[in-house]
Amino acid sequence: AVEIDNVYKSFGHLQVLQGVSMTVREGEVACLIGPSGSGKSTLLRCVNHLEKIDAGRIIVHGELVGYTERNGRLHEMHDRDVARQRRAIGMVFQRFNLFPHKTALENIIEAPTQVLGMGKEAAIAEARVHLEKVGLSDKAGSYPSQLSGGQQQRVAIARALAMRPSLMLFDEPTSALDPELVGDVLAVMRALAEAGMTMIVVTHEMGFARDVGDTVAFMDGGVIVENGDARQVISEPRHARTQAFLAKVR
Ligand code: ATP
Ligand code: MG
Repeated sequence: AVEIDNVYKSFGHLQVLQGVSMTVREGEVACLIGPSGSGKSTLLRCVNHLEKIDAGRIIVHGELVGYTERNGRLHEMHDRDVARQRRAIGMVFQRFNLFPHKTALENIIEAPTQVLGMGKEAAIAEARVHLEKVGLSDKAGSYPSQLSGGQQQRVAIARALAMRPSLMLFDEPTSALDPELVGDVLAVMRALAEAGMTMIVVTHEMGFARDVGDTVAFMDGGVIVENGDARQVISEPRHARTQAFLAKVR
């Protein structure tokens, strides 16, 4: 589970997160929607400590992110502990950031062999399972430049899964894709959700949010304006700001 409790984050004078709280239960998919600049990416980045929060706390699977608590005070975690926490959290961005000079398979085995110390044979065997999961068994030897955007994004998902994460963060994973490639990536994410992965998904795909999300949170101006059952928030938003946003994106 993920517990985000009254989190604040600013960049200089710009207050980006202004007291964000939300909980994602084990095995649930939480979708995060909201206008550009509302702080969605920043919140995701805080969850895996790519950004340090100014106040509040984030707890992933029972453990504070980035800090240890001693005598009622928070102390910054050692780098190696931050790295350990990050390994358990997979992240997929809008841009796929695959290594261009490595094949799909080589991209996937890179972190398990280099970071987890897995043997190459075992890593390859597991990578093939992940490639199959994302529907790309036949592309193991292809380089990113030989793959469509949607295929590259699915390799990026397989690469994240190869670290055996217990939480997956997605930041608009389909926004950079041609429309006809979006469906394949969403299908992979849906299968992952159905397999029980805990996920936080920033998305503009309202159909996905409604159908795959357990909860949908609408963020605006650095706060979560409305958060609740996915169907309810998408179909019958209670807050005027959510209604106005959904009317625009539909
Ligand atoms: P989008 O839908 O466009 O991706 P978002 O909701 O993800 O938007 P964020 O990327 O979290 O929004 O950005 C929120 C605000 O914080 C923006 O005004 C952005 O310019 C600012 N911001 C984000 N990262 C930084 C940074 N590293 N330094 C300074 N300002 C930043
Ligand atoms: Mg963003």
